Amino acid sequence: MLTSEIARVVVLGAGQMGAGIAEVCAAAGIAVSLVDVSTERATASKAGIEKRLARVVAKGKLDADTVRALLARIEPADASSYASADVLVEAATEQRDLKARLLVEADQGLPERALLLTNTSSLSVTWLAAQTKRPDRVAGMHFMNPVPLMKLVEIVRGLQSSAETLEAVKGLAERLGKTVIHSEDRPGFLVNRMLVPLMNEACFALEEGLGSAPDIDTGARLGLNDPLGPLELADLVGLDTVLAICEILHRDFGDDKYRPASTLRNLVAAGWLGKKTGRGFYRYDADG
Ligand code: NAD
Repeated sequence: MLTSEIARVVVLGAGQMGAGIAEVCAAAGIAVSLVDVSTERATASKAGIEKRLARVVAKGKLDADTVRALLARIEPADASSYASADVLVEAATEQRDLKARLLVEADQGLPERALLLTNTSSLSVTWLAAQTKRPDRVAGMHFMNPVPLMKLVEIVRGLQSSAETLEAVKGLAERLGKTVIHSEDRPGFLVNRMLVPLMNEACFALEEGLGSAPDIDTGARLGLNDPLGPLELADLVGLDTVLAICEILHRDFGDDKYRPASTLRNLVAAGWLGKKTGRGFYRYDADG
C-alpha cells in the first residue's frame, strides 16, 4: 500500500493515545473512524480532542476554521467502519488477550489489503500478528505521549512484517510529521526498554525512603535535564500501562531486574492510575 493511498484510518481504542492518534491523522487530512467499547465512549473521546484544540486556538497556534475541518474528519464509529478502512491502528488497553481478540476481529472486518498496526508499548508484535491471517501486513506503530506534541514514532518489525508494510508505516508516520526509528520485536522495544526500568527504579527509591517524590523528580529534571521526572512521567503515561509493561519485561526476559515495585502494584490496585484518574504519585485537579 502506498502512503498516498491511505485515505481512511480506524483508530481502535479512544483513550489518551487513541485520541492523539486520531487528532494527528485528521490534521494530516486523513478521515478517521474512532472506535472504543461504545460509540458513547468514542464520542466522549472526540469531545476531549475538541477541548484540547480549543485551548490551542485560544493560544493562537491554530485557527478555528482549521480545527473545525480537522474535527469534521473524525467520526465516532463502531466495527462496521472497518470495511472501508485502509489502515487500522489499535490503541486499546495494554492487555495481551484483549489486543489479540481485537486484532482477530479487525482482521475479519478489514479489506484484504489494509494494514493492521498496533500501538502496543511492549507486547510481541510477532505474536499479535500471528493471531491474524495477514501477519505480513501487521507491524508496530508506537506513538509517544502526548501524540500531538511528541515527534517520535517507533516502528516495530514483527518477524513476518513485509518490507512494503514497514515502508508504508514509515510513509504514514512522516505524513503525520513524525520522525521514525526502527526497533526489532523485543519486549518494550527501544524506548520502553530504557524508560520503564527508570520509572520502576524511581518507585523502588521512593519505597526505600531514599528521597521524596518531588526530590526524585527534581533530581531527574535538574540533574539529568529530563523535561519530566520519572514519577510524574509515570503518572502521565498511566500507572496501569507502566505496570503492564514492567510485567511483560519481567515475564518475557525472565529477569528479576524488571520485577515491578510494590508501590506501583498498590497504586494500580487502588485505581490511582495517574493523571487520567486524578491521582497517582501526585494529585491532579480538572486542569491537570
Ligand atoms: P487508556 O487507558 O487511556 O485507553 C485505552 C482505551 O482502550 C480506553 O478508552 C478503553 O475504553 C479502550 N478499550 C478497552 N477495551 C476495549 C475494547 N474491547 N474495544 C475497544 N476499546 C477498548 O490507555 P492509553 O494510554 O491510551 O494506552 C493505549 C495503548 O497505547 C496501550 O497499548 C499502551 O501501552 C500504548 N501506549 C501508551 C502510551 C502512554 O504513554 N500512555 C505511550 C505509547 C503507547
